[in-house]
Amino acid sequence: MSKPDSHIEGVYGPEGARQANRRTDSTRIGRRDFLIALASATAAGCAGVHRAAPWTSSGVRPNILLIFVDDLGYADLGCQGAGDLKTPYIDSLARTGIRFTSGYVTAPLCSPSRAALMTGRYQQRFGHEYNTGNIQRQQTEDIGLPLSQATLADALKNHGYATGVIGKWHLGAQDKFHPQRRGFDEFFGFLGGGHSYFEWDDSRRTPILRGIEIVRGDEYLTDAFSREAVDFVHRHKDRPFFLYLSYNAVHTPMQAPQEYLDRFPGIPDPTRRTMAAMLSALDDGVGRVLQALQEDGTEKDTLIFCISDNGGTAGPNASVNQPLRSGKGHMYEGGIRVPFIVRWPRMLPAGIVVDSPVSTLDVFPTAFAAAGGALDECSSLDGVDLSPYLKGDVMPPPHQSLFWRMGANSAARKGDWKLVKAAPGKPELYDLSADIAEAHDVAQARPDILRELEGEYSRWNAANVEPAWHVLRLSGAGARGTAR
Ligand code: CA
Repeated sequence: MSKPDSHIEGVYGPEGARQANRRTDSTRIGRRDFLIALASATAAGCAGVHRAAPWTSSGVRPNILLIFVDDLGYADLGCQGAGDLKTPYIDSLARTGIRFTSGYVTAPLCSPSRAALMTGRYQQRFGHEYNTGNIQRQQTEDIGLPLSQATLADALKNHGYATGVIGKWHLGAQDKFHPQRRGFDEFFGFLGGGHSYFEWDDSRRTPILRGIEIVRGDEYLTDAFSREAVDFVHRHKDRPFFLYLSYNAVHTPMQAPQEYLDRFPGIPDPTRRTMAAMLSALDDGVGRVLQALQEDGTEKDTLIFCISDNGGTAGPNASVNQPLRSGKGHMYEGGIRVPFIVRWPRMLPAGIVVDSPVSTLDVFPTAFAAAGGALDECSSLDGVDLSPYLKGDVMPPPHQSLFWRMGANSAARKGDWKLVKAAPGKPELYDLSADIAEAHDVAQARPDILRELEGEYSRWNAANVEPAWHVLRLSGAGARGTAR
Protein backbone atom coordinates (compact mmCIF):
# COMPACT_ATOMS: atom_id res chain seq x y z
CA MET A 1 0.00 0.00 0.00
CA SER A 2 1.30 3.44 -0.84
CA LYS A 3 1.96 5.96 1.88
CA PRO A 4 1.43 9.28 0.16
CA ASP A 5 1.90 11.48 3.21
CA SER A 6 5.13 10.16 4.55
CA HIS A 7 8.65 9.40 3.49
CA ILE A 8 11.73 8.06 5.19
CA GLU A 9 13.78 10.94 6.52
CA GLY A 10 16.52 9.52 8.69
CA VAL A 11 17.34 7.18 11.50
CA TYR A 12 16.85 7.70 15.20
CA GLY A 13 18.91 7.26 18.33
CA PRO A 14 22.57 6.24 18.81
CA GLU A 15 22.09 3.26 16.50
CA GLY A 16 20.62 5.61 13.99
CA ALA A 17 23.55 7.99 14.29
CA ARG A 18 25.93 5.20 13.33
CA GLN A 19 23.85 4.55 10.24
CA ALA A 20 23.19 8.13 9.30
CA ASN A 21 26.02 8.35 6.80
CA ARG A 22 25.06 5.19 5.02
CA ARG A 23 22.23 4.70 2.60
CA THR A 24 19.23 3.50 4.56
CA ASP A 25 16.94 0.85 3.26
CA SER A 26 13.91 -0.31 5.14
CA THR A 27 14.31 -3.93 4.05
CA ARG A 28 17.90 -4.09 5.26
CA ILE A 29 17.09 -2.37 8.55
CA GLY A 30 14.15 -4.64 9.11
CA ARG A 31 16.20 -7.79 8.55
CA ARG A 32 18.94 -6.55 10.85
CA ASP A 33 16.51 -5.76 13.64
CA PHE A 34 14.74 -9.03 13.03
CA LEU A 35 17.98 -10.83 13.86
CA ILE A 36 18.55 -8.63 16.91
CA ALA A 37 15.07 -9.40 18.12
CA LEU A 38 15.63 -13.12 17.69
CA ALA A 39 18.84 -12.91 19.71
CA SER A 40 17.28 -10.87 22.48
CA ALA A 41 14.01 -12.77 22.86
CA THR A 42 14.50 -13.47 26.54
CA ALA A 43 11.94 -15.64 28.21
CA ALA A 44 11.99 -15.08 31.96
CA GLY A 45 9.68 -17.54 33.61
CA CYS A 46 8.01 -18.77 30.44
CA ALA A 47 9.92 -21.61 28.83
CA GLY A 48 7.02 -22.23 26.49
CA VAL A 49 7.76 -19.18 24.42
CA HIS A 50 10.61 -21.06 22.76
CA ARG A 51 8.70 -24.24 21.98
CA ALA A 52 6.93 -25.11 18.78
CA ALA A 53 3.19 -24.99 19.32
CA PRO A 54 0.47 -27.47 18.49
CA TRP A 55 -2.49 -26.07 16.67
CA THR A 56 -5.54 -25.33 18.72
CA SER A 57 -8.48 -27.71 18.72
CA SER A 58 -10.19 -25.50 16.15
CA GLY A 59 -7.35 -26.20 13.76
CA VAL A 60 -6.84 -22.50 13.40
CA ARG A 61 -4.31 -20.31 15.09
CA PRO A 62 -6.12 -16.98 15.31
CA ASN A 63 -4.70 -13.62 14.53
CA ILE A 64 -4.32 -11.54 17.69
CA LEU A 65 -5.40 -7.90 17.38
CA LEU A 66 -4.78 -5.93 20.55
CA ILE A 67 -6.34 -2.47 20.35
CA PHE A 68 -5.15 -0.34 23.25
CA VAL A 69 -6.75 3.08 23.69
CA ASP A 70 -5.06 5.77 25.79
CA ASP A 71 -6.81 7.48 28.71
CA LEU A 72 -10.30 6.44 27.57
CA GLY A 73 -12.78 6.74 30.43
CA TYR A 74 -15.06 3.97 31.63
CA ALA A 75 -18.15 5.67 30.18
CA ASP A 76 -16.60 6.97 26.97
CA LEU A 77 -18.02 4.42 24.54
CA GLY A 78 -21.53 4.09 23.21
CA CYS A 79 -21.67 0.53 24.54
CA GLN A 80 -20.55 1.82 27.93
CA GLY A 81 -23.35 4.34 28.12
CA ALA A 82 -21.96 7.47 26.49
CA GLY A 83 -24.73 9.61 25.05
CA ASP A 84 -22.75 12.30 23.30
CA LEU A 85 -19.94 10.24 21.78
CA LYS A 86 -20.34 7.96 18.76
CA THR A 87 -18.31 4.74 18.60
CA PRO A 88 -20.26 2.42 16.28
CA TYR A 89 -17.36 0.18 15.31
CA ILE A 90 -16.08 -0.45 18.82
CA ASP A 91 -19.70 -0.93 19.87
CA SER A 92 -19.99 -3.57 17.14
CA LEU A 93 -17.11 -5.47 18.77
CA ALA A 94 -19.09 -5.55 22.01
CA ARG A 95 -22.27 -6.54 20.19
CA THR A 96 -20.55 -9.47 18.49
CA GLY A 97 -18.20 -10.31 21.35
CA ILE A 98 -17.93 -10.06 25.12
CA ARG A 99 -18.07 -6.83 27.08
CA PHE A 100 -16.60 -6.96 30.55
CA THR A 101 -18.02 -4.49 33.03
CA SER A 102 -15.25 -5.22 35.55
CA GLY A 103 -12.20 -5.11 33.30
CA TYR A 104 -9.10 -3.83 35.04
CA VAL A 105 -5.67 -2.56 34.20
CA THR A 106 -2.84 -3.08 36.68
CA ALA A 107 -1.96 0.60 37.08
CA PRO A 108 -3.76 3.91 36.74
CA LEU A 109 -0.97 5.21 34.49
CA CYS A 110 0.31 4.48 31.00
CA SER A 111 3.71 2.82 31.21
CA PRO A 112 3.29 0.43 34.16
CA SER A 113 -0.09 -0.60 32.76
CA ARG A 114 1.59 -1.49 29.46
CA ALA A 115 4.40 -3.36 31.21
CA ALA A 116 1.87 -5.80 32.66
CA LEU A 117 -0.08 -5.99 29.41
CA MET A 118 3.03 -7.02 27.51
CA THR A 119 4.32 -9.54 30.07
CA GLY A 120 1.22 -11.02 31.68
CA ARG A 121 2.86 -10.29 35.03
CA TYR A 122 2.21 -7.72 37.70
CA GLN A 123 4.74 -5.00 36.90
CA GLN A 124 5.73 -4.82 40.56
CA ARG A 125 7.32 -8.27 40.14
CA PHE A 126 10.11 -6.67 38.11
CA GLY A 127 10.31 -3.06 39.24
CA HIS A 128 8.25 -1.35 36.53
CA GLU A 129 6.06 0.25 39.18
CA TYR A 130 6.11 3.90 38.14
CA ASN A 131 5.58 5.85 35.00
CA THR A 132 8.69 6.61 33.00
CA GLY A 133 8.96 10.36 33.34
CA ASN A 134 9.53 12.56 30.33
CA ILE A 135 11.40 11.52 27.22
CA GLN A 136 14.62 13.26 28.25
CA ARG A 137 14.71 11.19 31.42
CA GLN A 138 13.96 8.00 29.49
CA GLN A 139 16.88 8.70 27.19
CA THR A 140 19.39 9.33 29.99
CA GLU A 141 18.37 6.90 32.72
CA ASP A 142 17.90 3.14 32.67
CA ILE A 143 14.12 3.31 32.37
CA GLY A 144 12.14 0.81 30.33
CA LEU A 145 10.57 -2.64 30.38
CA PRO A 146 13.35 -4.75 31.97
CA LEU A 147 15.13 -6.93 29.45
CA SER A 148 14.72 -9.91 31.81
CA GLN A 149 11.02 -10.05 30.90
CA ALA A 150 9.60 -11.89 27.90
CA THR A 151 6.83 -10.11 26.04
CA LEU A 152 3.72 -11.47 24.39
CA ALA A 153 5.39 -10.58 21.12
CA ASP A 154 8.38 -12.78 22.03
CA ALA A 155 6.01 -15.62 22.79
CA LEU A 156 3.92 -15.34 19.64
CA LYS A 157 6.88 -14.66 17.39
CA ASN A 158 8.42 -17.91 18.54
CA HIS A 159 5.18 -19.62 17.60
CA GLY A 160 5.45 -18.43 14.03
CA TYR A 161 3.43 -15.27 14.31
CA ALA A 162 4.18 -12.11 12.37
CA THR A 163 4.37 -9.41 15.05
CA GLY A 164 3.93 -5.67 14.82
CA VAL A 165 3.26 -2.66 17.01
CA ILE A 166 1.69 0.48 15.62
CA GLY A 167 1.38 3.60 17.76
CA LYS A 168 2.59 4.46 21.24
CA TRP A 169 5.28 2.31 22.82
CA HIS A 170 6.12 3.93 26.19
CA LEU A 171 8.17 0.99 27.45
CA GLY A 172 11.57 2.62 27.04
CA ALA A 173 13.09 5.04 24.56
CA GLN A 174 16.64 3.71 24.44
CA ASP A 175 17.88 1.33 21.73
CA LYS A 176 17.82 -1.70 24.01
CA PHE A 177 14.13 -1.18 24.79
CA HIS A 178 13.10 -0.70 21.16
CA PRO A 179 10.03 -2.79 20.22
CA GLN A 180 12.01 -4.65 17.57
CA ARG A 181 14.24 -5.89 20.38
CA ARG A 182 11.21 -6.99 22.38
CA GLY A 183 9.71 -9.49 19.98
CA PHE A 184 8.13 -7.24 17.38
CA ASP A 185 9.10 -7.66 13.73
CA GLU A 186 7.71 -4.27 12.80
CA PHE A 187 7.24 -0.92 14.49
CA PHE A 188 5.54 2.23 13.27
CA GLY A 189 4.91 4.88 15.88
CA PHE A 190 6.74 6.73 18.64
CA LEU A 191 8.70 5.60 21.65
CA GLY A 192 7.52 8.05 24.31
CA GLY A 193 4.28 8.50 26.18
CA GLY A 194 2.59 11.20 24.13
CA HIS A 195 2.77 12.93 20.77
CA SER A 196 1.37 15.75 18.72
CA TYR A 197 -1.25 14.49 16.28
CA PHE A 198 -0.22 16.90 13.54
CA GLU A 199 3.52 17.55 14.01
CA TRP A 200 5.31 14.33 13.18
CA ASP A 201 8.69 15.91 13.91
CA ASP A 202 7.56 17.30 17.27
CA SER A 203 10.95 18.24 18.74
CA ARG A 204 9.69 18.14 22.34
CA ARG A 205 9.00 14.43 22.09
CA THR A 206 10.26 11.51 20.02
CA PRO A 207 9.81 11.42 16.25
CA ILE A 208 7.57 9.10 14.31
CA LEU A 209 9.58 6.03 13.40
CA ARG A 210 9.31 3.09 11.07
CA GLY A 211 11.68 0.68 12.75
CA ILE A 212 14.49 3.06 13.68
CA GLU A 213 14.02 5.34 10.71
CA ILE A 214 12.48 8.75 11.19
CA VAL A 215 9.40 9.24 9.04
CA ARG A 216 8.02 12.68 8.32
CA GLY A 217 4.46 13.49 7.34
CA ASP A 218 1.48 15.63 8.13
CA GLU A 219 -1.32 13.08 8.17
CA TYR A 220 -3.48 13.09 11.31
CA LEU A 221 -1.61 10.61 13.45
CA THR A 222 -4.64 8.51 14.39
CA ASP A 223 -5.51 8.13 10.70
CA ALA A 224 -1.89 7.20 9.95
CA PHE A 225 -1.93 4.47 12.60
CA SER A 226 -5.20 3.10 11.19
CA ARG A 227 -3.79 3.13 7.66
CA GLU A 228 -0.68 1.30 8.81
CA ALA A 229 -2.84 -1.24 10.65
CA VAL A 230 -4.90 -1.98 7.54
CA ASP A 231 -1.68 -2.38 5.59
CA PHE A 232 -0.28 -4.77 8.23
CA VAL A 233 -3.44 -6.88 8.19
CA HIS A 234 -3.41 -7.24 4.42
CA ARG A 235 0.31 -7.98 4.22
CA HIS A 236 0.01 -10.81 6.74
CA LYS A 237 -3.27 -12.32 5.62
CA ASP A 238 -1.65 -15.67 4.84
CA ARG A 239 -0.08 -16.34 8.26
CA PRO A 240 -1.18 -15.69 11.83
CA PHE A 241 -0.23 -12.27 13.10
CA PHE A 242 -0.10 -10.36 16.36
CA LEU A 243 -0.82 -6.68 15.88
CA TYR A 244 -0.58 -4.40 18.91
CA LEU A 245 -2.50 -1.34 17.72
CA SER A 246 -1.62 1.17 20.40
CA TYR A 247 -3.42 4.42 19.64
CA ASN A 248 -2.30 7.45 21.66
CA ALA A 249 -5.81 8.87 21.28
CA VAL A 250 -7.53 10.08 23.39
CA HIS A 251 -4.50 11.20 25.39
CA THR A 252 -3.55 14.88 25.34
CA PRO A 253 -2.73 17.04 23.40
CA MET A 254 -6.34 17.57 22.41
CA GLN A 255 -6.15 17.87 18.63
CA ALA A 256 -8.56 16.82 15.91
CA PRO A 257 -9.14 17.69 12.24
CA GLN A 258 -12.15 19.84 11.44
CA GLU A 259 -13.89 17.01 9.59
CA TYR A 260 -14.11 15.02 12.83
CA LEU A 261 -15.02 18.07 14.93
CA ASP A 262 -17.88 18.75 12.52
CA ARG A 263 -19.47 15.46 13.56
CA PHE A 264 -20.21 16.82 17.03
CA PRO A 265 -21.73 20.32 16.71
CA GLY A 266 -23.96 19.72 19.72
CA ILE A 267 -21.23 19.23 22.31
CA PRO A 268 -20.80 22.62 24.00
CA ASP A 269 -17.56 21.97 25.90
CA PRO A 270 -14.69 22.44 23.43
CA THR A 271 -12.42 19.88 25.13
CA ARG A 272 -15.17 17.26 25.20
CA ARG A 273 -16.01 18.00 21.59
CA THR A 274 -12.36 17.55 20.60
CA MET A 275 -12.20 14.33 22.56
CA ALA A 276 -15.31 13.08 20.77
CA ALA A 277 -13.67 13.93 17.45
CA MET A 278 -10.41 12.18 18.38
CA LEU A 279 -12.29 9.09 19.47
CA SER A 280 -14.43 9.16 16.34
CA ALA A 281 -11.27 9.07 14.22
CA LEU A 282 -10.01 6.14 16.26
CA ASP A 283 -13.34 4.37 15.92
CA ASP A 284 -13.27 4.88 12.16
CA GLY A 285 -9.84 3.26 12.22
CA VAL A 286 -11.20 0.25 14.06
CA GLY A 287 -13.85 0.04 11.37
CA ARG A 288 -11.23 0.11 8.61
CA VAL A 289 -9.26 -2.67 10.27
CA LEU A 290 -12.42 -4.77 10.65
CA GLN A 291 -13.17 -4.17 6.99
CA ALA A 292 -9.65 -5.32 6.08
CA LEU A 293 -10.13 -8.53 8.07
CA GLN A 294 -13.43 -9.09 6.30
CA GLU A 295 -11.85 -8.57 2.89
CA ASP A 296 -9.15 -11.10 3.73
CA GLY A 297 -11.62 -13.63 5.08
CA THR A 298 -9.87 -13.72 8.46
CA GLU A 299 -12.37 -11.89 10.64
CA LYS A 300 -13.78 -15.01 12.32
CA ASP A 301 -10.28 -16.22 13.09
CA THR A 302 -9.08 -13.02 14.71
CA LEU A 303 -9.08 -12.67 18.48
CA ILE A 304 -9.59 -9.00 19.24
CA PHE A 305 -9.06 -7.16 22.52
CA CYS A 306 -10.14 -3.53 22.86
CA ILE A 307 -9.11 -1.98 26.18
CA SER A 308 -8.11 1.38 27.64
CA ASP A 309 -4.69 1.65 29.31
CA ASN A 310 -6.03 3.51 32.35
CA GLY A 311 -9.02 5.53 33.44
CA GLY A 312 -9.98 8.86 31.97
CA THR A 313 -8.82 12.30 33.05
CA ALA A 314 -11.79 14.58 33.46
CA GLY A 315 -9.74 17.77 33.35
CA PRO A 316 -7.15 17.25 30.61
CA ASN A 317 -9.23 15.30 28.07
CA ALA A 318 -12.81 15.69 29.34
CA SER A 319 -13.29 11.94 29.61
CA VAL A 320 -15.99 10.46 31.79
CA ASN A 321 -15.64 7.56 34.22
CA GLN A 322 -19.16 7.57 35.63
CA PRO A 323 -20.37 5.98 37.79
CA LEU A 324 -16.87 5.30 39.04
CA ARG A 325 -14.93 7.45 41.49
CA SER A 326 -11.93 9.52 40.47
CA GLY A 327 -9.77 8.72 37.45
CA LYS A 328 -6.30 8.38 35.99
CA GLY A 329 -3.55 8.26 38.59
CA HIS A 330 -5.76 6.97 41.40
CA MET A 331 -6.58 3.57 42.86
CA TYR A 332 -10.31 4.17 43.00
CA GLU A 333 -12.27 2.39 40.29
CA GLY A 334 -12.15 5.33 37.91
CA GLY A 335 -8.38 4.98 37.64
CA ILE A 336 -8.17 1.25 37.02
CA ARG A 337 -11.52 -0.09 35.77
CA VAL A 338 -11.76 0.47 32.04
CA PRO A 339 -13.67 -0.45 28.89
CA PHE A 340 -12.70 -4.06 28.14
CA ILE A 341 -14.00 -5.99 25.11
CA VAL A 342 -12.94 -9.38 23.76
CA ARG A 343 -14.17 -10.85 20.51
CA TRP A 344 -13.33 -14.05 18.65
CA PRO A 345 -16.22 -15.10 16.41
CA ARG A 346 -14.90 -18.59 15.73
CA MET A 347 -14.53 -19.65 19.36
CA LEU A 348 -16.21 -17.30 21.81
CA PRO A 349 -19.86 -16.39 22.41
CA ALA A 350 -21.27 -13.17 20.99
CA GLY A 351 -23.16 -10.33 22.56
CA ILE A 352 -22.72 -11.21 26.19
CA VAL A 353 -21.85 -9.01 29.16
CA VAL A 354 -19.66 -10.41 31.92
CA ASP A 355 -19.33 -8.79 35.35
CA SER A 356 -16.66 -11.07 36.81
CA PRO A 357 -13.38 -9.21 37.24
CA VAL A 358 -10.79 -9.70 34.51
CA SER A 359 -7.45 -8.00 33.98
CA THR A 360 -5.06 -6.99 31.26
CA LEU A 361 -2.84 -9.59 32.92
CA ASP A 362 -5.11 -12.09 31.14
CA VAL A 363 -4.34 -10.86 27.64
CA PHE A 364 -0.97 -12.67 27.45
CA PRO A 365 -2.19 -16.12 28.60
CA THR A 366 -5.45 -15.88 26.63
CA ALA A 367 -3.67 -14.93 23.43
CA PHE A 368 -0.79 -17.35 23.97
CA ALA A 369 -3.12 -20.27 24.66
CA ALA A 370 -5.24 -19.38 21.62
CA ALA A 371 -2.05 -19.58 19.58
CA GLY A 372 -1.41 -23.08 20.89
CA GLY A 373 1.12 -22.08 23.53
CA ALA A 374 1.68 -24.27 26.58
CA LEU A 375 0.70 -22.23 29.60
CA ASP A 376 1.93 -24.84 32.05
CA GLU A 377 5.41 -23.81 31.02
CA CYS A 378 4.70 -20.17 31.90
CA SER A 379 4.76 -20.50 35.65
CA SER A 380 5.41 -16.85 36.37
CA LEU A 381 2.36 -15.44 34.59
CA ASP A 382 -0.10 -13.71 36.91
CA GLY A 383 -2.98 -13.70 34.44
CA VAL A 384 -5.22 -16.54 33.35
CA ASP A 385 -6.48 -17.86 30.03
CA LEU A 386 -10.02 -16.51 29.82
CA SER A 387 -11.16 -18.81 27.00
CA PRO A 388 -12.29 -21.83 29.06
CA TYR A 389 -14.21 -19.55 31.37
CA LEU A 390 -15.86 -17.69 28.52
CA LYS A 391 -16.77 -20.88 26.67
CA GLY A 392 -18.42 -22.19 29.83
CA ASP A 393 -15.91 -24.99 30.39
CA VAL A 394 -14.83 -23.55 33.74
CA MET A 395 -17.43 -21.97 35.99
CA PRO A 396 -15.50 -20.20 38.79
CA PRO A 397 -14.59 -16.58 38.13
CA PRO A 398 -11.16 -16.14 36.56
CA HIS A 399 -9.77 -14.23 39.55
CA GLN A 400 -10.35 -14.58 43.26
CA SER A 401 -8.40 -11.41 43.94
CA LEU A 402 -6.65 -8.59 42.12
CA PHE A 403 -4.05 -6.18 43.51
CA TRP A 404 -2.54 -2.79 42.75
CA ARG A 405 0.50 -0.93 44.08
CA MET A 406 2.12 2.34 43.12
CA GLY A 407 4.35 3.59 45.87
CA ALA A 408 2.36 4.29 49.01
CA ASN A 409 -0.93 3.93 47.16
CA SER A 410 -2.43 0.49 46.81
CA ALA A 411 -5.65 -1.44 46.39
CA ALA A 412 -7.06 -4.95 46.42
CA ARG A 413 -10.29 -6.45 45.19
CA LYS A 414 -11.68 -9.76 46.42
CA GLY A 415 -15.15 -10.64 45.31
CA ASP A 416 -17.15 -7.45 45.67
CA TRP A 417 -14.90 -6.02 48.39
CA LYS A 418 -12.40 -3.33 47.55
CA LEU A 419 -9.56 -2.14 49.77
CA VAL A 420 -8.04 1.26 48.94
CA LYS A 421 -5.02 2.85 50.55
CA ALA A 422 -4.63 6.38 49.29
CA ALA A 423 -1.62 7.74 51.14
CA PRO A 424 -1.47 9.32 53.61
CA GLY A 425 -5.04 8.39 54.57
CA LYS A 426 -6.29 5.37 56.48
CA PRO A 427 -7.28 2.16 54.68
CA GLU A 428 -10.73 2.36 53.14
CA LEU A 429 -13.13 -0.47 52.39
CA TYR A 430 -15.97 -0.51 49.88
CA ASP A 431 -18.66 -3.00 48.91
CA LEU A 432 -18.74 -2.63 45.13
CA SER A 433 -21.94 -4.67 44.84
CA ALA A 434 -23.85 -1.89 46.64
CA ASP A 435 -21.48 1.04 46.15
CA ILE A 436 -19.75 1.02 42.79
CA ALA A 437 -18.97 4.74 43.28
CA GLU A 438 -16.91 4.00 46.41
CA ALA A 439 -18.79 6.69 48.29
CA HIS A 440 -19.33 4.87 51.58
CA ASP A 441 -16.26 3.66 53.43
CA VAL A 442 -17.24 0.65 55.56
CA ALA A 443 -13.79 -0.05 57.01
CA GLN A 444 -14.96 0.62 60.54
CA ALA A 445 -18.15 -1.39 60.13
CA ARG A 446 -16.38 -4.45 58.66
CA PRO A 447 -12.96 -4.77 60.33
CA ASP A 448 -13.05 -8.51 59.59
CA ILE A 449 -13.17 -7.94 55.84
CA LEU A 450 -10.60 -5.17 56.10
CA ARG A 451 -8.16 -7.48 57.89
CA GLU A 452 -8.78 -10.25 55.36
CA LEU A 453 -8.02 -8.05 52.38
CA GLU A 454 -5.01 -6.48 54.07
CA GLY A 455 -3.68 -9.96 54.73
CA GLU A 456 -4.16 -11.03 51.13
CA TYR A 457 -2.51 -7.86 49.93
CA SER A 458 0.48 -8.45 52.18
CA ARG A 459 0.92 -11.98 50.85
CA TRP A 460 0.76 -10.72 47.27
CA ASN A 461 3.10 -7.85 48.05
CA ALA A 462 5.70 -10.19 49.56
CA ALA A 463 6.51 -11.42 46.04
CA ASN A 464 7.15 -7.92 44.69
CA VAL A 465 10.45 -6.10 44.35
CA GLU A 466 11.47 -2.52 44.93
CA PRO A 467 10.76 -0.08 42.10
CA ALA A 468 13.58 0.01 39.55
CA TRP A 469 13.17 3.80 39.35
CA HIS A 470 11.14 6.43 41.13
CA VAL A 471 9.05 9.37 40.09
CA LEU A 472 10.68 12.76 40.17
CA ARG A 473 7.65 14.66 41.30
CA LEU A 474 4.54 13.94 43.28
CA SER A 475 1.10 15.18 42.43
CA GLY A 476 -1.78 15.27 44.85
CA ALA A 477 -2.16 12.30 47.15
CA GLY A 478 -0.57 9.85 44.77
CA ALA A 479 2.82 9.23 43.27
CA ARG A 480 1.94 10.21 39.74
CA GLY A 481 4.71 10.26 37.19
CA THR A 482 4.54 12.59 34.26
CA ALA A 483 2.48 11.20 31.44
CA ARG A 484 5.17 11.65 28.83
CA1 CA B 1 -2.79 6.35 29.45
